[in-house]
Amino acid sequence: MRLVEQYSKKGSGLLDMGDTPAFKGCYGATSLVVGASIVASDEVMSGRLSHAFNPSGGLHHAHPERASGFCIFNDPAVVIAHLKSRYKVKRIAYLDIDAHHGDGVMYGYYDDPAVLDIDFHESGKFLFPGTGFPDETGKGEAQGLKLNIPLPPYTGDEAYLEAFQRIVPDTLKKFRPEIILVQCGADGHLDDRLAHLRLTTKVYTEVISQAHDLAHELCNGKLLLFGGGGYTLANVPRVWTVAFSTLAGVKPNDEIPSDWAKQFEKSANEDPPHKLNDKPTSDDEKTLKEVRRTVNELQTHLGHESQ
Ligand SMILES: [Zn+2]
Ligand SMILES: [Zn+2]
Repeated sequence: MRLVEQYSKKGSGLLDMGDTPAFKGCYGATSLVVGASIVASDEVMSGRLSHAFNPSGGLHHAHPERASGFCIFNDPAVVIAHLKSRYKVKRIAYLDIDAHHGDGVMYGYYDDPAVLDIDFHESGKFLFPGTGFPDETGKGEAQGLKLNIPLPPYTGDEAYLEAFQRIVPDTLKKFRPEIILVQCGADGHLDDRLAHLRLTTKVYTEVISQAHDLAHELCNGKLLLFGGGGYTLANVPRVWTVAFSTLAGVKPNDEIPSDWAKQFEKSANEDPPHKLNDKPTSDDEKTLKEVRRTVNELQTHLGHESQ
């Protein structure tokens, strides 16, 4: 933390092995992100709100002792600690759909039975941070509570949703969380500049809608949504609009408002998107099989360890 504070004043320096440069004011900025996530969790826990969304949050790579992968402080991890200490929450479900493995959160709570961690991501064989395989299922009392679903590059909606359906509803129902946290990184989207998945707004709508229903069924609606990665500007606002409106129970017009598009073009210097929703993507047999095999492998690891 002292290093972050120092570099923040200086306005330069690297906070990890190379991905996370400091910028002027980064200490204050990233502290505000964490603060916003904590306030959001307080609103939900107090019952003032059922759901809250901090699109600036979801900085899931930072570790307790170091920054990593564009993340300086890990706000979901801090929120989990806050929920445990302030509200004595004993069962927290954390679902991470960013294209990258949420290593900071998973390893931070790897032996903590209070945290069910389900993480769908592009396989670490192809993408940073190179972790999150099906045999990493937790330690000690938390064994069986960390679920990693690494996906092959170019996985589309069809294979993704099939895997999601096989794992998430049953696991959450069995765990009976007191609150559900969702890291909704937008970098799994088709055309993302950094990752190679092919998800569309269909996946984000479906995942958030199911998380929302499960939150109402299992924990009085308590659901906290974070942003995350997303490196193609035309996608990120669409993904998060879809996520937010699904939570809010509204269906926005599919046409992108023209004044917004103009503003986007000016500030991003890129072609604006024309529609809010994408055409869903299907998968070839090879991808479907590979994803099925990964889910089977995960279930084998979970089965063996629960005996
Ligand atoms: Zn609701
Ligand atoms: Zn990411």
